[in-house]
Amino acid sequence: MNNFILSNLNKLKKIDIPNPEIDLRILLNYSKYAKNEIILSNINRNDINVKKFNKFLNRRLKHEPVSKIINKKSFWKDDFFVNEFVLDPRPETEGIIEESLNLIKNKKRNIKILDIGTGSGAIAISLSREFKNASITAIDISDKAINVANKNIYNKKLQHKVKIKKVSLDKINTSFDLIVSNPPYLSKSEYKDLSIEIKNFEPKIALDGGKDGLNFYRKLAKKVPEIMNKDAHLIIEIGEKQLNSCKEIFKFSGLSYIKKVQDLQKKDRIMLLSKL
Ligand code: GLN
Repeated sequence: MNNFILSNLNKLKKIDIPNPEIDLRILLNYSKYAKNEIILSNINRNDINVKKFNKFLNRRLKHEPVSKIINKKSFWKDDFFVNEFVLDPRPETEGIIEESLNLIKNKKRNIKILDIGTGSGAIAISLSREFKNASITAIDISDKAINVANKNIYNKKLQHKVKIKKVSLDKINTSFDLIVSNPPYLSKSEYKDLSIEIKNFEPKIALDGGKDGLNFYRKLAKKVPEIMNKDAHLIIEIGEKQLNSCKEIFKFSGLSYIKKVQDLQKKDRIMLLSKL
């Protein structure tokens, strides 16, 4: 490997970036002139816009996630535009899509879906890929997140299937067959202990669930039953230690608990409820 690669790799290693080779390769490929894929072992410096690369690398050296630097994150079947105003869609959240598919066997059904706190729009867009005849509403209270969700929806030409609205949950007064959400659910102390990568580069509004992290579930339990059709379901992401508290919160809500699903780390992550 040449010195250019080795010295940059060392800079990343020195500050304990977990997969320095992978990150370096991505950043090089996002600053290349050449058409061909750059791999570390055969790189020619002339193929790289070094000024652009250095800017990218310096951002990574400040612990900015690669996704925010290249404005792209993959989720389910798509790549999404992301920036500092939306939470990066995470693999564990794909459980919401899987469970929706397990639940609604007829993918052609004309169902109404609501995604609460859509952020980048990843969940809503992924559901529209699966349920071709669904009419999907995705809401968020952040103007800047709404801009990102709209950008993703226009990029994918899905504006007729997914409607984005800047509105808070309590203003919703139509009913749905499926409601999904990955709400902010970190407690105050969990938020304080986050890595720099998340704390400095992901929006607090998407993570901070109040003192015990459960504020949003209380809001959901209060409001959501009245906007659910008969036989409708609610699928939500939860924090790894929140299953019992969430069961408690929904106990008298008019919804019944169906099941939980664990993520790949075997942590409780998704909770399913249905209208009584
Ligand atoms: N799983 C996320 C994290 O730990 C939290 C997501 C959320 O609060 N909705 O970064």
